[in-house]
Amino acid sequence: MAEQVSFISILQWSEDQCREFLARKRWPDGPRCPKCGEPDPYTITRKSRTKNHVSSLYRCKACKKQFTATVGTIFEDSKIPLNKWFAAIYLMCSSKKGVSAHQIHRTLGVTYKSAWFLCHRIREAMGDNDGSLFTGVVEADETYVGGKPRGHAAHRPDQTMSERIKAGFRKKTPVFGILERGGRVRTMATQKNTRLTQKQVQQALRTNIDLERAALITDEHPYYFGINRHLPHGVIRHKSEYVRGPIHTQGIESYWAILKRGLYGTFHHVDAGYLGQYLNEFEFRFNRRKISDAERFAALMGQTNGRLLWFCQTAQPENPFA
Ligand SMILES: [Zn+2]
Repeated sequence: MAEQVSFISILQWSEDQCREFLARKRWPDGPRCPKCGEPDPYTITRKSRTKNHVSSLYRCKACKKQFTATVGTIFEDSKIPLNKWFAAIYLMCSSKKGVSAHQIHRTLGVTYKSAWFLCHRIREAMGDNDGSLFTGVVEADETYVGGKPRGHAAHRPDQTMSERIKAGFRKKTPVFGILERGGRVRTMATQKNTRLTQKQVQQALRTNIDLERAALITDEHPYYFGINRHLPHGVIRHKSEYVRGPIHTQGIESYWAILKRGLYGTFHHVDAGYLGQYLNEFEFRFNRRKISDAERFAALMGQTNGRLLWFCQTAQPENPFA
């Protein structure tokens, strides 16, 4: 039976109810030790109902470690009650343009500092790159976000770029993305104040697209020169045309519009160092746009195993999107 999960119901869940929900989403096939991966742990029930009572406490049969459903997740070691975490996740999963830390702070009554921390951990969990390859018609494009010149910085043509950056002018950060027409999007930001290179772009394309089962469509940028040695490549010359039958990049361009409306409307200024996390957030929602808010919330619960944490630091294949 489908569970009735709503923002209101989540706020009323006890700490135990939250843990039980998390355990079901995190371990659909039953609990496993987060340290050694052993299934089927002992369940420890405590007789006295103390203030710190945890009903779902497990003990690993192999390594004998005790654990709860939050161990090894983004919730570990947090003093914020789980129902507030869950409510924040629900808000971030359901609002199209994103939710600012200020909004979480006001709505849930946690300090701004806690709200900021919580939002960042949740965005980490929203990271979506499972390494699967894009197929079919794939559009690629780059855009630039952030860093509008302000005040005097905009009117000093005599300054060099490094003088302007010192004076507070922020360069826009390039973001590169690919979109499977009708399907998923995957985006990457470059390092602060660096430019995207042809090598990076082509590596990103080759490691994220199934070259045997896809066709690429881009504009005429030199980034893509020579990519047609790897897969069919359609080019739309934006200087003279916008759409030529199926040859267009309107899918990724409308994604950029959603991203920018969200980034500028909700977050005002995004530090380039955190841009990757915001990209995670928008990608997570976009790639699950066809399911309900409650389903999106449940999906995130299933991937809260912390990427930030010790046991997850397995080497990943080299991927410029990661
Ligand atoms: Zn174990």
